[in-house]
Amino acid sequence: MTIELSVATALIDHQALQHNALQIRQLTSHSQIMAMIKADGYGHGLLQVAQALSSVDSFGVARLEEALQLREVGIIKPIVVFNSVPSMQAITLSCQYQLTLVLHSLEQLAYLEQAIVNKPIRVWLKIDTGLHRLGITAQQAAAVYQRLSHCRNVQQPIGLLSHFSRSDELTAEPTQRQITQFDDFARGKPGLQSLASSCAILQWPQSHRDCVRPGLLLYGISPLSGVLASELGLRPVMTLQSQLLAVREHPAGAPVGYGADWHSQQATRLGVVALGYGDGYPRDAPSGTPLLVNGRRVPLVGRVSMDLLTVDLGPDATERSGAAVTAWGAALPVETVAQHLGVSAYELVTRLTNRVIKQIVIK
Ligand SMILES: *Cc1c(COP(=O)(O)O)cnc(C)c1O
Repeated sequence: MTIELSVATALIDHQALQHNALQIRQLTSHSQIMAMIKADGYGHGLLQVAQALSSVDSFGVARLEEALQLREVGIIKPIVVFNSVPSMQAITLSCQYQLTLVLHSLEQLAYLEQAIVNKPIRVWLKIDTGLHRLGITAQQAAAVYQRLSHCRNVQQPIGLLSHFSRSDELTAEPTQRQITQFDDFARGKPGLQSLASSCAILQWPQSHRDCVRPGLLLYGISPLSGVLASELGLRPVMTLQSQLLAVREHPAGAPVGYGADWHSQQATRLGVVALGYGDGYPRDAPSGTPLLVNGRRVPLVGRVSMDLLTVDLGPDATERSGAAVTAWGAALPVETVAQHLGVSAYELVTRLTNRVIKQIVIK
């Protein structure tokens, strides 16, 4: 079935999500999978992604609001909230909606101890082993663990987790140091352990433990520089698509777009695409960044504007208005586009705006 697209659309491939979850399951067969679906499922649609990922064990989100949205649509799997603001309300809502709290600060611990709740709350204790962002320091961890163990509002046993700062690098030393610090604390404790996000799932099997926390891999994007997701057996989930609004004859030497940044070397045909930074396509994408028009690779030319961008179709182009334009997808990996732009693929997929329609595709 062909769909006439009138605006920028992110096609979300349901089966690819399930396929990627299965691939991760095979890589980490002794671990539970906590699917990280924060930031609107990395821009793929929070609720749709959660509904598609029926095979994972739990979900991880950054904000309490994300967790509440999931509960509102009837998601009943465990939901782990990583970055909740320390507050009494966060504690009572966690209890009411049966959310799992990541305890990252002493302030949260104080609220947890003072709260009057009718049911113990599930807790993962986050140990800071070197990222130095959120988490309880190694020095404080023993005392905090002790208090959590005796807190009537906490369901026992307490899970233990940490997050790596350099697991994308090939040298093992910094990651191994974090693992050692974690193990020094975690040894002999009964709760589940969790360390690995996408890079560590691929590169540091000794960190898989009881529960892995993939984000990027689920969406079929490689976190490793120089490696494409397809080489890892993963399938891209998102295709960012729009269409040509116009095909215009363009004389040699003439500029296009704001600032007249680019001039054609030869007489050519330019395609004007209904996609711009108002959709989340980066405004600073340089001329030469690839897009696909009816599957054919063509370069972006001139400056990206809010609603439009232009591509050089070449003098012999036969495409017409309405032709499908792909900014990234299976045939043009988002990693490749990210590399052209000098940004991370994480950022490209999560920065799409509300104007982009998300459409689940079930083949
Ligand atoms: C986002 C996040 C992940 C997932 O990271 P990826 O690199 O996308 O796999 C895992 N753990 C925590 C704590 C996170 O914030």
